Amino acid sequence: MKLYEKYSLQVQNTISGQKEEFKALNAPFVGMYVCGPTVYSNVHLGNCRTFISFDMIYRYLNHLGYKVRYVRNITDAGHLTDDADQGEDKIAKKARLEKLEPMEIVQSYTVDFHNIMAKFNALPPSIEPTATGHIQEQITMIEQILENGLAYVSEGSVYFDVKKYNEKNNYGILSKRDIDELQDGSRELDGQSEKRDPRDFALWKKASEEHIMRWNSPWSVGFPGWHLECSAMSTKYLGEKFDIHGGGMDLKFPHHECEIAQNVGSCGSQPVNYWLHTNMLTLNGKRMAKSTGNSILPEELFSGDNDLLDKAYHPMVVRFFMMQAHYASTLDFSSDALSASEKGFDRLMAAMDTLDKLPVSSESSANVSEMIDGYYAAMSDDFNTPVMIARMFESVKYINSVKDGKAQISEEDKAQLSQHMNALVFDVLGLKHKDNEADDRLPKVVQMLLDMRTEAKKNKDFALSDQIRDELKEIGIQIKDSREGTEFSL
Ligand code: AMP
Ligand code: ZN
Repeated sequence: MKLYEKYSLQVQNTISGQKEEFKALNAPFVGMYVCGPTVYSNVHLGNCRTFISFDMIYRYLNHLGYKVRYVRNITDAGHLTDDADQGEDKIAKKARLEKLEPMEIVQSYTVDFHNIMAKFNALPPSIEPTATGHIQEQITMIEQILENGLAYVSEGSVYFDVKKYNEKNNYGILSKRDIDELQDGSRELDGQSEKRDPRDFALWKKASEEHIMRWNSPWSVGFPGWHLECSAMSTKYLGEKFDIHGGGMDLKFPHHECEIAQNVGSCGSQPVNYWLHTNMLTLNGKRMAKSTGNSILPEELFSGDNDLLDKAYHPMVVRFFMMQAHYASTLDFSSDALSASEKGFDRLMAAMDTLDKLPVSSESSANVSEMIDGYYAAMSDDFNTPVMIARMFESVKYINSVKDGKAQISEEDKAQLSQHMNALVFDVLGLKHKDNEADDRLPKVVQMLLDMRTEAKKNKDFALSDQIRDELKEIGIQIKDSREGTEFSL
């Protein structure tokens, strides 16, 4: 029996507004698409929260026995500085400011993103497609939408006809916005006269003279609208209908709403069964965002190099801090909250080590299988990591009591608890022991050898003292004797 058959998974589906039982379209296979970063600047910690949340979701689905195809794109074209189809391409703008090729910008921030994700122990997706690598698929999708009469060409650009679409469909189905209110709220901007209606959005934009990222199309030399790439790439790799689509809450409108309209407009059916949205990481109560300067970079956290921090934090502590909040709740960042998480993380890791060394008795003094069911009940309730972690801390108390001889655990229960706690802590929450613990031990071992060398010299055993020096040197550890003692560098 697969774990997903034993523990029924409930997910909060944005489109229905309900918590629903997750039923895969074609179990054990699951298709999941998550909107990836726009690679024109370093990812901030808020972006990381969204990607780490979906990493945990991906990991849990795999752990339950599903075979997940996880697609997360790289937006390397078409995302304008103004979401209302105006302004410059974010990547082209950065390239112009830094006097680099747009693809140099894309490459450098994609590499940065991958490095940061690896530090947070996030698994790579199964496919990581780029917008620029899928221009043809996007053009084909526009042709289908035009054929279905839901888009129009204007001055070499192509716009989605929202009003026409809304005659038979519901533009606002995901974000719960009322199309009439959108009309009132939308701004008339320069150049918008190309649109029949201010609510229409660009599928293809004709490039101006100075726009460097440009491709041929039946309509003009131009570039695709930002929303289009996700529709085209999710359809290509996951099919016209797939299980899960995710992203941060801020993408519900217009991005995801437009994605739905494009998919329905080209294929005729709703693309996604379950829409999952992560909530925002905040700083001083306000959404963390690069544009407002209200943000922290992961590297600043790992080095402690930011006035908001009293010290550096290990990536695993930061990941644990994020796991202590539900993905759909806001989470406020502070140095105090992180330092509380650090204590919790250390306690949990210590208990994981203790667990394997516990003495066993003929019977357990606690109900271990109930404990394990409790973890899964929390995780299968819309990936409720904070509740699962709270339940694990109850187990940590029990583990420590067994260690102190105040409680007992049977051999079988110990094996079960170890198997499930290890799987959930390391494989699902994606935590790892802090690797610098191992590094901390090396200087201690070297110091121990140097003390033995001093002792050998005192005893006039120069053969031994020279041997220690030479062998340390051979493995690249330099030592320097001075009047104050012996120093070494690793
Ligand atoms: P972007 O590169 O701006 O498209 O953002 C990449 C992802 O990060 C999107 O899914 C956003 O919703 C998400 N995101 C942006 N800011 C935050 C934040 N403060 N907290 C959580 N997720 C965020
Ligand atoms: Zn997207």
